[in-house]
Amino acid sequence: MMSDQRLRVLIIGGGFGGLFCARRLAGVDVDVTVLDRAAGHLFQPLLYQCATGKLSIGHISRPLREEFARHRNVRTLLGEAVELDPDARTVTAMRPDETTFTVEYDVLIIAAGMRQSYLGNEHFAQWAPGMKTLDDALDIRQRLFTAFEIAETLPPGPERTSWLTFAVAGGGPTGVELAGQIREVATRTLAKEFHSIRPEDARVLLFDGGDSVLKSFAPKLAMKANETLRDLGVELHFGVHVTDVRRDGVTVTPKKGGPEEHFETRTVLWTAGVEAVPFARHVAKVLGAESDRAGRIAVEPDLTVAGHPEIFVIGDLAGRDQLPGVAENAMQGGLHAASCVRRDLAGRARRPYRYRDLGSAAYISHGHALLQVGPVRVSGYPGWLAWGLLHIAFLTGVSNRISTVATWLASIARAGRYHRAFMLGASDRHDERYTYSSWDLPEPPPETRGVSAG
Ligand SMILES: Cc1cc2nc3c(=O)[nH]c(=O)nc-3n(C[C@H](O)[C@H](O)[C@H](O)COP(=O)(O)OP(=O)(O)OC[C@H]3O[C@@H](n4cnc5c(N)ncnc54)[C@H](O)[C@@H]3O)c2cc1C
Repeated sequence: MMSDQRLRVLIIGGGFGGLFCARRLAGVDVDVTVLDRAAGHLFQPLLYQCATGKLSIGHISRPLREEFARHRNVRTLLGEAVELDPDARTVTAMRPDETTFTVEYDVLIIAAGMRQSYLGNEHFAQWAPGMKTLDDALDIRQRLFTAFEIAETLPPGPERTSWLTFAVAGGGPTGVELAGQIREVATRTLAKEFHSIRPEDARVLLFDGGDSVLKSFAPKLAMKANETLRDLGVELHFGVHVTDVRRDGVTVTPKKGGPEEHFETRTVLWTAGVEAVPFARHVAKVLGAESDRAGRIAVEPDLTVAGHPEIFVIGDLAGRDQLPGVAENAMQGGLHAASCVRRDLAGRARRPYRYRDLGSAAYISHGHALLQVGPVRVSGYPGWLAWGLLHIAFLTGVSNRISTVATWLASIARAGRYHRAFMLGASDRHDERYTYSSWDLPEPPPETRGVSAG
């Protein structure tokens, strides 16, 4: 049982920031609560492998309850934080059944991360899932493999072609990884499995507003990524914005002006932007804190909100010094917040947060990945091996690491994907047609568009 006298630390979010913070506080003389709207920690960097059937959801997520089972001073609660009362020092959370409960805190650590942003076009979400959650990954998996199945049953012609055309919005790491994987699915995994269609004919279109993919990488590596994607057969469209997404296509508009272009496709994937989760906007409002356009909350050098030394904001949500939205910043932020709590207990002064850039990596396709650590730049096979080792080192849970390596080795040996299973239909409607799910229902009438869907 937790005692009433000890300092109560409430961590909102069990992602990279929350997980590392709670781990560092395990065994310390405080009571820690990790509140997350999901029951597990999600390893987002491998979401695209789950979406494209290489890994299962079990490989990339670990129940938070299991993670902290050994630590008596850390409890985990399933619920979505919806309201902060900084005077009463309470957070109200919503259970999955939409009832609420309240948690008290002495120290609050907000590590709730970002969600996909449609840059003001929320109605795109119905046709173009993003890539932030396990639900997104399973949604994409369903759409991807269903598209090939539907194409197989259609006669040659424009309709079949549109099912074999895949559009990806955004040329950052996630867009690149998805585009590369879809071509690999088409050319390696499915190539010999169909009778009527040739999966390798599948077109993959990648749209980005800039003049290259992976602009956060060194120009030479980014150029290498463009080349590798083209060699794979990904069609790169630069200098354009996706300005409309429909059930049966996308429209892109050149950034510098000029005629818009339409592409017929039945599968659109959105990776073009992120924004703070709604709770972060609420927090900024009730604390009177500044936030940027994406909703990142301005923080002091020690990652606390001005005037609230008891409230930390870490990870993707921390708005300071252009801190990058990467796992390493979240993990270091989590360790930093835990260290501040420990220093407070010991009566020592807190230290300012210093982010150390340990480099970045991006996967493009089998045998091709980029790694950039300080002046060291690696691509091709060496990059791919380094990328694999890095991801295994950070994957949560020993059993996840072992099973992921085993699955990777098996899929390298046989070019197979052993987690292609996908669901169809809805579980709450027994009369719903088994082979239909909501994403393929006809387009809603114009007056209902703009209401968030998906
Ligand atoms: C597809 C993808 C690929 C990526 N690849 C890489 C990569 O290769 N390398 C890299 O360094 N970074 C990568 N990133 C970025 C990295 O995953 C993030 O920077 C990191 O997860 C941020 O950690 P965080 O703790 O701030 O938030 P998150 O890890 O996003 O965790 C936030 C947690 O808060 C929970 N939550 C949200 N709102 C609430 C609420 N109101 N109440 C309760 N809980 C809530 C969520 O369920 C989640 O568990 C990738 C991200 C994505 C989406």
